[in-house]
Amino acid sequence: MGSKSPETEHPVKALGYAARDTSGVLSPINFSRRKTGDEDVRFKVLYCGVCHTDLHFVKNEWNNTKYPVIPGHEIVGVVTEVGSKVKKVKVGDHVGVGCIVGCCHSCNQCGANQEQYCSKMVHTYNDSSVVTYGGYSNHMVANEHFIVIWPKDYPLDGGAPLLCAGITVYSPIRYYGLDKPGMHVGVVGLGGLGHVAVKFLKALGVKVTVISTSPKKKEEAINTFGADSFLVSRDQAQMQSGVGSMDGIIDTVSADHPLVPLISLLKPNGKLVLVGAPTKPYELPAFPLLFGRKMVGGSFIGGIKETQEMIEFAAKHNITAAIERIPIEYINTAMERLQKSDVRYRFVIDIGNTLKAA
Ligand SMILES: [Zn+2]
Ligand SMILES: [Zn+2]
Repeated sequence: MGSKSPETEHPVKALGYAARDTSGVLSPINFSRRKTGDEDVRFKVLYCGVCHTDLHFVKNEWNNTKYPVIPGHEIVGVVTEVGSKVKKVKVGDHVGVGCIVGCCHSCNQCGANQEQYCSKMVHTYNDSSVVTYGGYSNHMVANEHFIVIWPKDYPLDGGAPLLCAGITVYSPIRYYGLDKPGMHVGVVGLGGLGHVAVKFLKALGVKVTVISTSPKKKEEAINTFGADSFLVSRDQAQMQSGVGSMDGIIDTVSADHPLVPLISLLKPNGKLVLVGAPTKPYELPAFPLLFGRKMVGGSFIGGIKETQEMIEFAAKHNITAAIERIPIEYINTAMERLQKSDVRYRFVIDIGNTLKAA
């Protein structure tokens, strides 16, 4: 036999929303997915969060988009089919898939349940080595290793964004030890990531200060999300009042911004953790780090085991993202609004009720 055609390799028809060029405009697409393998879980997608990364990819802002691109890596739904070897879930169960759908399973990182740092990690969509399509689609199939078991009665729509936004802040809070009751931790930026970070930290008994360019967000940071205090980063007197007060900072901002004022907020031995990715390199002078033995670190999403732990922690503490639920037809408007940071605090697409064949 000759080489297989795409139809025989990927025989299951699917409907999605794709961007086809750098305009980033999303429109319906018919495509196909693989059949359910022995270790695969197939599920009907009910909701998919809209991550800022989706916006970068549809517009090819990182110069690595392969069109057509079907975005979405905050995917939840209900299992419709499982392979013969699947043990984790059964038909009818609620499940999620985040940013990862493959890894080598044999390197040190995979062995340590840190698939996110495996050099062969496969992204849920727009992967560089294999063709992958994300959750702006009516169904999804993934190896059971990458399936997150959804806690009973935990909201699917409000919980979906935690599969990327949630784990991105949860993992560094745990890894860098910023999770001890009584600690004081700063959260820079009150967006999709930041507002969830505040909720996790408060559930851990940590004192939280939100640091933002926008004074408008103070009321919501404190009264809605439970932050203890708020600093306007452009207000020097306010920033001065926080100098030397924090054990750590989770910096979620992806726009260019100075780090030195944030390092000044740290106590000796304090840790500044970056989870945003500005395009321009940071300016990082040595002296502010030497005096006080401070460190600047990074963190990237989280492994599957930790994502499962994070979702269970969120369910136990009633933590969900603050969302705007939208029909799929609204996605292009949502992308325009996301570009202007005009969202409180995450768009979630109601795929189950609104993505229908024309
Ligand atoms: Zn994301
Ligand atoms: Zn690996």
